This record gives sequence, structure tokens and C-alpha cells, in this order.
Amino acid sequence: MSENCNQSCSSCSENCAERKEEKTDFSEKLHEMSSVKKVIAIVSGKGGVGKSLVTSMLAVTMNRMEYHTAILDADVTGPSIPKMFGIKEKAQGSQFELYPVKTKTGIDIMSVNLLLENDTDPVVWRGPVIAGAVKQFWTDVIWDDVDFMFIDMPPGTGDIPLTVFQSIAVDGIIVVTSPQELVSMIVSKAVKMAEMMNIPVIGLVENMSYFKCPDNGKDYHIFGESHIEEIAEKHGLKVLAKIPIDPRFSAVSDRGMMELFDGNWLDPVGDVLMRMIENNIEGDISGNSIPSDKKEEDRKMIKIAVASEKEMVTEHFGHCINFNIFEAEGEKIVKSESIPNPGHKPGFLPNYLNDIGVNVVISGGMGAGAIEIFNEKGIEVIVGAEGDAKAAAEAYLKGELESTGSVCQDHKHHDECGH
Ligand code: ADP
Repeated sequence: MSENCNQSCSSCSENCAERKEEKTDFSEKLHEMSSVKKVIAIVSGKGGVGKSLVTSMLAVTMNRMEYHTAILDADVTGPSIPKMFGIKEKAQGSQFELYPVKTKTGIDIMSVNLLLENDTDPVVWRGPVIAGAVKQFWTDVIWDDVDFMFIDMPPGTGDIPLTVFQSIAVDGIIVVTSPQELVSMIVSKAVKMAEMMNIPVIGLVENMSYFKCPDNGKDYHIFGESHIEEIAEKHGLKVLAKIPIDPRFSAVSDRGMMELFDGNWLDPVGDVLMRMIENNIEGDISGNSIPSDKKEEDRKMIKIAVASEKEMVTEHFGHCINFNIFEAEGEKIVKSESIPNPGHKPGFLPNYLNDIGVNVVISGGMGAGAIEIFNEKGIEVIVGAEGDAKAAAEAYLKGELESTGSVCQDHKHHDECGH
């Protein structure tokens, strides 16, 4: 190393052994005075399933386990966190920084409601402004030595949560569902979103799972039988907790007494989170003291191959004329090319596409054999697509392209679909 080394490799021409390649980092940096060890995002398919309640209960649970805990309320158009903790004061700050408000037991909170003059003022901002506000909660707030930050995400898996994920270095996602939703679809979308961002899904929490009758002690499934276990298994996920409907939860949250909630439903989640910290003690992801290779890895590219006839999705995978290949970063296609179908010998194409780095294949139909090889290689297969190839890839990236799962069997292209 040169004795004049200033640790800034990008402005130095020395070719020493310590030279570090500069990496592109899309996520925003925390304030230089902040430090956050683990960031956990809480997502749901729609509003009203108890995402904020679960976020608050998680924060209280980890705070009771003596971790310094924070909540970043990113549900900007329906911010309910300050009310659940009975916070009346406003956040203080200067031109350069903002300070979170502390709850009665020391949880640090930042929410748009702590900045508005009246709590009841509606927030009628558009998507980019909302995403910008959340970004500022990350970059401009002084998060002092936080072990766990919980992000109460905007509901859904659309544009705003995606933008939030792109700017914040999230370590894991917890999906909150309730039995009355279209749970299977919501979980698929959340899993897909997490895969796109390369963030692990820590597990599922089913809220309003059942009601325990205080008179006879029996459990009643008010919203119908739960299918959460099967859905979790399908995606290789864990059900971390099932929370009952309990009027005492709404009572403590409505009265701003969240810190007084009684019960240990989220202790299993607490144990999982505790292990995250214990196994990775030096893993401060604040970006202030640790190099950013984790974040760089988080923004991996996705390579999609659409089996096509020129610009259109083909019905028969093996028989396609060309593959339209799209490389994407998040929801955005950054590179497109068309390559001819190199041939359709059984089993050949899945290996070929794997070799060129494809991780998602979209087609109209496909044979079971080909699907099996793709699955073995961890390549996602979407069948049942039609229309414009690029539009199909874009729909996939937005989480809007569902696979029909249909396999072509007895049609005239029997041996041409990769059977
Ligand atoms: P979201 O954040 O998903 O929009 P909230 O957490 O704000 O939903 O919950 C909506 C309402 O339902 C709140 O009044 C909350 O107190 C109540 N609630 C949520 N979960 C439960 C539950 N398990 N038992 C009783 N009330 C609940």
C-alpha cells in the first residue's frame, strides 16, 4: 500500500494489493450519525389485515427482549403507528437532520404523522413523493444505535413498496396475512417481490387467525379455515405465528397503549430475529462502517427468456422460433435481445438457457419434462402467457403474470415442447 493511501481507490491509479473495486450501490445511505443492525420490513397484500398491529407488537416484543428497537412508519397514507403508542408530540429536527420520537418504553419512531400539524390531516401525495418521504426517514433521521428497525410498509406489492425496497437495505421481510384474503396470491406476489430484490422472506404471520371463546375455551375460525400452512410449504416458508382475534389488541392499540399488550404470540418471531443478530454480530448494515457488498448483491439482475415467435409469446416452448431475452434490474428492463432457438432436442433447451444465465422462463405451453429440469435448476417457469413478449416480461416483473401451471401433453407438438 502506498504511504499516501487515502483509502479512496476510485481516485487513485496505484495498482496495489489492497485495491478495492468500487461497487455500484443503489440503496440510500443512512445519516452518518445513524447505526442500524437489522432492518425488517412488514408487508401485507392489502390494508386492514393488522400489518401495523403486528409491526408494533414485534417492536414491543424485541424491546422487551432488551434490544434497542425502532419503527419507520412507511405506510405514509395511513400512518397508524404514533397513535398505537399514544404519541402526541411532534418530531424535532434541524435543516440537516430529524430526530425520532421515543415511546414510553424507549422505542424510536418516525412517521409522517409526527411531522404533520394535525394528525387528522390527510396525506394526498402521489407515489414518488411518498417514496421520497420514506427515503428521507431513512437518510435524514438520526437512528441512534438501533438493533432492530421494523418498517411498516405501505400495503400491497405495487410500485411504492418496490421503490421503498430499492432505497433501503432491508435484511428480511415478514408477510402478514389474514384468513379472509386471497392468501395464496398475496404470498406468491410477496415472495416474487422479495426474490426480485434478493431479500429473504423470514416467514408468514397469520393475523385474525381464530377467536378463542372466553366462555368455553374453543377456537372459532371466524374468517373460515386457514390454509396458511399449505401455502407456506408450497413456497418453502415458515409460519412464524398465528395471532387470534382479540378485542384486547384493538383496545390497547386504539388507546395508545400498545406497550401494555399481553401475550407471547410473537415470541417465536423474536427468537428468529434474535438469531439473526447473534449469528451476524458484526453485520451492521448502516453503510457507515461496513463495506456495501451485501447491498450490491441485493440488486442482482434478473434474466428472463420468453419463448417467442418473433415479438409474440409462443404456445409451444420447444417449437419456438426465438427467445426474447430481457435483463432487468428491479422492475426495469435494462437490456433486450432476441436469440434464435438453437434446436429442440428433448432436455437440451433448459440446460442451454441455464448456461446462459436465465432465471425465469415464460412460455404459452411447456412439457412436463422441461418444467422439471427448470425446477431442478431453480429456474422459475411461467406458462400460460400470451401476447407481446416484452409486455409479458414487464407484467412478470410487476408481479402481475401468474403461471397457469398448465402443461402441454397430448397435442400435436408432443415431442417439441421439451417433453
Ligand atoms: P393495517 O396496518 O394492515 O392496515 P391495522 O394494524 O391498522 O391494519 O389493523 C386494523 C384494525 O384492526 C386496528 O383497529 C387493529 O386494532 C385491529 N386489529 C388488527 N388485528 C387484530 C386482532 N388480531 N384482533 C383484534 N383487532 C385487531
